Amino acid sequence: MKKLIIFIILIVMLSSAAYALNKNYLGWAVGQAKTTEKVVALTFDDGPHKIYTPQVLSVLRQHNIKATFFMCGTYAQYYPELVKQASADGHEIANHTFSHPNLFKNKAKRGAALVNEVKQMNQLIEKLTMIRPAYFRAPYNYMGPETVKAINDLGLIYVSWTFSVKDWEKPAPAVMVDNFNKRLIPGAIVLLHDGGGNRANTVAALPGMIEAARKKGYRFVTLGELLK
Ligand SMILES: [Zn+2]
Repeated sequence: MKKLIIFIILIVMLSSAAYALNKNYLGWAVGQAKTTEKVVALTFDDGPHKIYTPQVLSVLRQHNIKATFFMCGTYAQYYPELVKQASADGHEIANHTFSHPNLFKNKAKRGAALVNEVKQMNQLIEKLTMIRPAYFRAPYNYMGPETVKAINDLGLIYVSWTFSVKDWEKPAPAVMVDNFNKRLIPGAIVLLHDGGGNRANTVAALPGMIEAARKKGYRFVTLGELLK
């Protein structure tokens, strides 16, 4: 039954251009919190990045916002200070694998190999922050049932997102703010990136997104607060 639910999630996600899950706890994966409270969780993938992570941290600090960072081990091992800084600032550090494998293409990476690198990343995060990660997001949002189960068995909650502003396509900051504003709903998990490419536009759009959400009465929370 659970496998079926996960399979349905996968089909829904693949058939949706926005990759949005609009219900809470479908199977073992989370795409949004079920709440009417105006809360939103910003999540940043693919860091830490030597240029953009400090910039994102700075904007979040200026606006007194806590967020969640899905980091990769490849970069975390090169920039451990950024992992520590993000954690010290009160943000949550979550697991986005060690090497960011594409699980859609690389079947060999879906089983034990994935479990191994997720464990390795958990250990690195725990070593740097003294906090055991609670959340996992797969590269490219792969959600095969066996993979979701293997990750759940490690004690991690599999997290997707409610919507993105497609910042990987590098739209103008005003376009990102507009998309964010139109799609914002209570309990949303928003996908953004602080690594994996040039994220200057994401950094530039952040203050506008924050302002738009606050104008509507929204409060920014970490995944831990959102999903408790
Ligand atoms: Zn990623």
